[in-house]
Amino acid sequence: MTRHTNLFENVNRQFDAAADILGLSLELRELLKTPYREITVAMPLRMEDGTLRVFKGYRVQHNGVRGPQKGGIRYHPDLELDDVRALASLMTWKAAVVNIPFGGARGGITCDPAKLSLHELEMLTRRYISKLSMVLGPTRDIPAPDLNTNAQTMAWVLDEYGRKNGYQPACVTGKPLELGGSQGRPAATGKGLAICAREAWEGVLGGTLQGATVALQGFGNVGSHAATFLHEAGAKVTAVADLYGAVRAPGGLDLPALRAHAHANRGSVTGFPGGEAFDPATLWEQPCDILIPAALSGVLTRETAPLVQARLVLEGADAPTTPEADEIFQARGIPVIPDILANAGGVTVSYYEWVQNLQQLFWDEAEIFSKEEKVLVQAFAEVHERVLAHHCSWRTAALVLALERVKKANELRGW
Ligand code: NAD
Repeated sequence: MTRHTNLFENVNRQFDAAADILGLSLELRELLKTPYREITVAMPLRMEDGTLRVFKGYRVQHNGVRGPQKGGIRYHPDLELDDVRALASLMTWKAAVVNIPFGGARGGITCDPAKLSLHELEMLTRRYISKLSMVLGPTRDIPAPDLNTNAQTMAWVLDEYGRKNGYQPACVTGKPLELGGSQGRPAATGKGLAICAREAWEGVLGGTLQGATVALQGFGNVGSHAATFLHEAGAKVTAVADLYGAVRAPGGLDLPALRAHAHANRGSVTGFPGGEAFDPATLWEQPCDILIPAALSGVLTRETAPLVQARLVLEGADAPTTPEADEIFQARGIPVIPDILANAGGVTVSYYEWVQNLQQLFWDEAEIFSKEEKVLVQAFAEVHERVLAHHCSWRTAALVLALERVKKANELRGW
């Protein structure tokens, strides 16, 4: 989502590194890189001030050989079709890494939700779903929350899809509990990050989470839950930056108090009395053991990667690291646990939400988290095996695992 880098080109460069290891043919590479379907829709909306504005929305369905396509809907003023292509393809690889039967999709609307009223956001969401509903559905493509969308947005998606198709809770995940959402879904991505942090920090780097220091960009759904689980595991969250500002405390921030403050302060950490304010642009150079980008894509670049002092980077956001930054981290010996593994807890629990909806039954949070833990620990170990076997980065190893699975599914389907 930053304009100095094309996310789709970056994702495809990363794909090629894994395809080289597997010796994939040029034909197969083209087949696997090319999105299956791309839709752009125009959405005229009468604003509350009486003016008419036309918004643009996208849905890209990248690959569905392993199951229905799955991916979030994001609202952001800089969103472009190439971003959505990149994010859709990441979803294909992510679902394959954790071995859940989904393909990859992604979508969104180019808009600044902070400048829209709740009613305008609802109307925009409904228009978007109404225009796309023929390609959505529980066995085709299942949206979920993403940047600047939440359970309320998913409730509107459910309702709008249901107008034409009847009650089908499995058509969307990340819904409120009252509408068939799953226990544990809001915290699932952050929980998965904490599981991967433990596996990497303790299992691979030989450290202990007790007392380890953590810095995060983003304190929304992903960042705030990851910070909470790591805090509960004994880590010290020493710096947090968000859209509005940043706060740090070298001895560790009081996480429950910071969450309560953000809750009462439009989600922002600014003005938190238990820490010192600092320039959010300097987040990357804050001293810490574990750095978690959990907001934007394309933020770890050839400029910011050399500043990083952490010993481990865990990608909470999708595509936060450019290929140039990856090379810098690789040369500096700093492992980067990639998005398609580190933040896959969200899609994993979305899968369980979908399963519960299809069967019309409900599991409790402990059961959901224990299923998520099992899936992520297994995926982490399978990626680690490939890091060791191919002497490659964690990102390339995760993509190798994903490509093995998607390639096999392609072959079995006769393509
Ligand atoms: P969110 O909207 O709940 O929170 C976003 C956070 O990022 C907020 O704290 C916001 O202030 C901060 N932010 C926005 N712009 C910023 C900027 N310019 N500088 C610093 N901080 C900024 O979103 P989320 O659901 O937490 O998603 C965050 C990232 O994680 C996205 O890249 C998303 O694709 C990815 N992700 C989310 C999920 C999920 O389950 N929600 C799953 C996988 C990946």
